[in-house]
Amino acid sequence: MNNYDLVNKDLAYVWHPFTQMGVYSKTDPIIIEKGKGSYLYDTKGNRYLDGYASLWVNAHGHRNKQLNKAIQKQLNKISHSTLLGSSNIPSIELAEKLIDITPQKLTKVFYSDTGSASVEIAIKMAYQYWKNIDKHKYSKKNKFLTLHNGYHGDTLGAVSVGGIDSFHKIFKDLIFENIQVESPSLYQSNYKNEDEMMQAILKQIETILISRADEIAGFVIEPLIQGATGLFVHPQGFLKAVERLCRQYDILLICDEVAVGFGRTGEMFACNHEDVQPDIMCLGKAITGGYLPLAATLTSQRIYNAFLSDRHEEKTFFHGHTYTGNQIVCSVALESIKLFEQQKLISHIQKTSKILSEKLFELKDHKHVGDIRGRGLMFGVELVSDKAYKTPLDIERVEEIISQCKTKGLMIRNLENVITFVPVLNMSVKEIKKMTNIFKKVLISTLSKTNDTQH
Ligand SMILES: *Cc1c(COP(=O)(O)O)cnc(C)c1O
Repeated sequence: MNNYDLVNKDLAYVWHPFTQMGVYSKTDPIIIEKGKGSYLYDTKGNRYLDGYASLWVNAHGHRNKQLNKAIQKQLNKISHSTLLGSSNIPSIELAEKLIDITPQKLTKVFYSDTGSASVEIAIKMAYQYWKNIDKHKYSKKNKFLTLHNGYHGDTLGAVSVGGIDSFHKIFKDLIFENIQVESPSLYQSNYKNEDEMMQAILKQIETILISRADEIAGFVIEPLIQGATGLFVHPQGFLKAVERLCRQYDILLICDEVAVGFGRTGEMFACNHEDVQPDIMCLGKAITGGYLPLAATLTSQRIYNAFLSDRHEEKTFFHGHTYTGNQIVCSVALESIKLFEQQKLISHIQKTSKILSEKLFELKDHKHVGDIRGRGLMFGVELVSDKAYKTPLDIERVEEIISQCKTKGLMIRNLENVITFVPVLNMSVKEIKKMTNIFKKVLISTLSKTNDTQH
């Protein structure tokens, strides 16, 4: 099929996620044909640096030889058998590996296939955990503490613990209530400094826990960086303080590392930065190095034990997806983790992170750059039309920048007026510089045209 036919058939048959198809159908969609390393290639022969890691998942580059080989090797044995009532080799080996590399407290792995599912599972486990222990004493522990602007996926349970008004309001009658606290993100807040903000928000949390801990099963949090809503970076020490409060008031700490896990913030897991031991950890996105859909919910022994009984009775965790623990998916995840170790990817990320951050901070005095924030290889540049008032830059201008970057060979995305840099994790120093250079040029040329017409 040529490019023209593909575009027509894409518009005829495919409904794209999170996309206003009425607008999409008037654009000239890019159709990716192949990838190599940090680059994507479209059907017209253009190549693009993958500055969003194909939606925050790609770790070792596209068409990675070792990952391809791992899949081929597994294909020659078996593609899929079920984990219901039997087991399989890659799912066992991967579980052992995950337990080895995640915080010590986590000892059990429950597989699923999307980040959203891993969060659904975490919510149901936390809820049932308290009921399994003592359903009378904990009869009211039915709610979750969450952060404003949190994102945990698009299924209804995950939406319920999320905090994005624009995505969620249409479904408000379908979702359950949570208790939401302010997000500790300085630029979005009216606090004077991080310290004042952190103390105030921790106090809000503690006040809620003092009066309502008996209603709360757990605290669901994206550790360090709230991703999908605009890359809101938490102050150092916030996560540790939240952990302390969870322990003090006996609620479960549920860390959603779907986005930040696997090196994204410069440590293998975001929890590692503050030596935090969650009761439940959700993993997804980069767990397979960006190859195939896999997710996992890891729990402590204490939680797991609460589900044990002699017979198939009410304590059983009645949840499972058809492809749970699929062999191909688990084998590529296992190989990806080996590659993290062999390639010393975490120290590479720490190095490239410095360069990415330095390059982006060169733009800090630009009149339309309101804020630059991030950790590891997860940075956002918030564009404003008025720095003093933090007025978001018109979305048309933001989209123009994204589109100009594509023309110049860089694929990045925006979250509203925040331009995000979430590149392939093993992107080279040279490619990181190329990425920021393209962006810098585009930013300056696009916005100089409109400097005086901004309101
Ligand atoms: C992407 C994401 C999810 C949802 O994962 P899907 O695979 O898209 O269902 C959940 N939590 C966080 C923090 C995410 O970034």
